[in-house]
Amino acid sequence: MIAILLGPPGVGKGTQAALAAESQGWTHLSTGNLLREEVAAGSDLGKQADEFMARGDLVPDEVMVGMVEERLKSIAMDKVLFLDGFPRTIAQADALAEQAPSGSIRVALYFAAPDSVLCSRLMGRGRADDTEEVVAHRLKVYHQTTAPLVSWYQEQGLLVEVDSDRDIDSIQTDLIQLTKKALEESSQLEGELNG
Ligand code: AMP
Repeated sequence: MIAILLGPPGVGKGTQAALAAESQGWTHLSTGNLLREEVAAGSDLGKQADEFMARGDLVPDEVMVGMVEERLKSIAMDKVLFLDGFPRTIAQADALAEQAPSGSIRVALYFAAPDSVLCSRLMGRGRADDTEEVVAHRLKVYHQTTAPLVSWYQEQGLLVEVDSDRDIDSIQTDLIQLTKKALEESSQLEGELNG
């Protein structure tokens, strides 16, 4: 099943997803990490993406949709796939709904924290795109372009909020528990459909 991780930059969803995936044997797919690998490798895609990333802008939808589509084909859906950083636009969410195996998107976990907390966390991270100006721009882009996905997934009955203004361990416990619940419901549903 697919568990979408939604939320602003700096909220800690990447760290949380990596930890949970590691301990539970689940898969963590971060489009930000994939892009940074392309940049580091100096590939054509990396060169193209680098400009957008350095400014704090989104990489164009076609590039991102193609990138995720390729990977979705090779990932088994019987376990959990955390999609981290994708979708970030309604167009990406539409494309994902088409590409994902039918019924595989089971939950959208929304990591929420106030902007003031996010800014100080982002500034302390030391990534190339974490300068003050770029951080401010990324938060603006998030609110304008990505935040509408929260109500989009809520309307589909998939949204579950994770209070992320807490210590790492409490958030991790919640994340694992909420994901397992979605996984159980998903296998129950599959059982009913098959039997
Ligand atoms: P992240 O590590 O998720 O914060 O992503 C870092 C940067 O990669 C973002 O600021 C965007 O420039 C780019 N990026 C990652 N995922 C996407 C996406 N789904 N759509 C567009 N741009 C993305």
